[in-house]
Amino acid sequence: MAKLIDKPKMTAAESVYVPEIAKGLGVTIGRFFNNTFRSRQSEKNEIDTISYPEEKRTYPERFRGVHRLTHRSDGSPRCVACLCCSTACPAQCIHIEAGEYPADDPSAESRVIEKFPTAFVIDELRCIFCGFCVEACPCDAIRMDSGFHMPPSTQRSHFIFDKEMLMAIPAADGSVETHNPRPEPGDAKHPGVDREHGH
Ligand code: SF4
Ligand code: SF4
Repeated sequence: MAKLIDKPKMTAAESVYVPEIAKGLGVTIGRFFNNTFRSRQSEKNEIDTISYPEEKRTYPERFRGVHRLTHRSDGSPRCVACLCCSTACPAQCIHIEAGEYPADDPSAESRVIEKFPTAFVIDELRCIFCGFCVEACPCDAIRMDSGFHMPPSTQRSHFIFDKEMLMAIPAADGSVETHNPRPEPGDAKHPGVDREHGH
C-alpha cells in the first residue's frame, strides 16, 4: 500500500530563494578574491584553477585519451577487422570495413592472418570515452593511451578519425606498437587457431 508523505513546508524566505542565492554568490565572490589576491601572494599556491592552455595538468597514467591503432613491427595494423570493438561500442561511433589479405601477400602468409581493416573510422565527437572498445579488442589493436584529449574545433569533420589518422597517432611515450603483446596466428608460441589449425 502506498505511503503518503507530507510535502515539507517552506518558509517565505525559502520560497523566494533569495537567501540561498545570496549564499551561493557569497561563495563565488569569496573564491574570486581568494584566487585573485591571497593565493597568488602566499607561498603555498592554493589556487583552484590553472591558466589553460598555457598551463596544463599532468594526466594520470590510465587517462583515456584519443584512440590510436597499434602497428605490427612491419608497420601493418594489428587490427584483424573482427568488429568486436564496434559491437561493444555503446555510442556506435566505430565504423569498420573488412578486407582479406591476398593469398600471395608474403607478410600475411607468414603470419597466417586473414583479414585487415580497409576502412576504420571513429567519430570522436560521438565517443563517450568509456574504453569498452579497448577492453573488447582481442589483439590489443586499439588503445586510448595517446595521452591527449580531442583538440577543440568548430568543424564537425575534424572529429572524424580515419584509419590513416588513427595509425599516425602514437602513444604518450611515442611508441606506435602494442604495449600488451600477445601471440598472433603464425607465432611459434600461438596456442593454435589459424587457417591450418581450427578451433
Ligand atoms: S571509448 Fe566507448 S564510446 Fe568511444 S569508441 Fe570506444 S567503445 Fe565507443
Ligand atoms: S580494433 Fe580490435 S576489436 Fe576492433 S576490429 Fe580491430 S581487432 Fe577487432
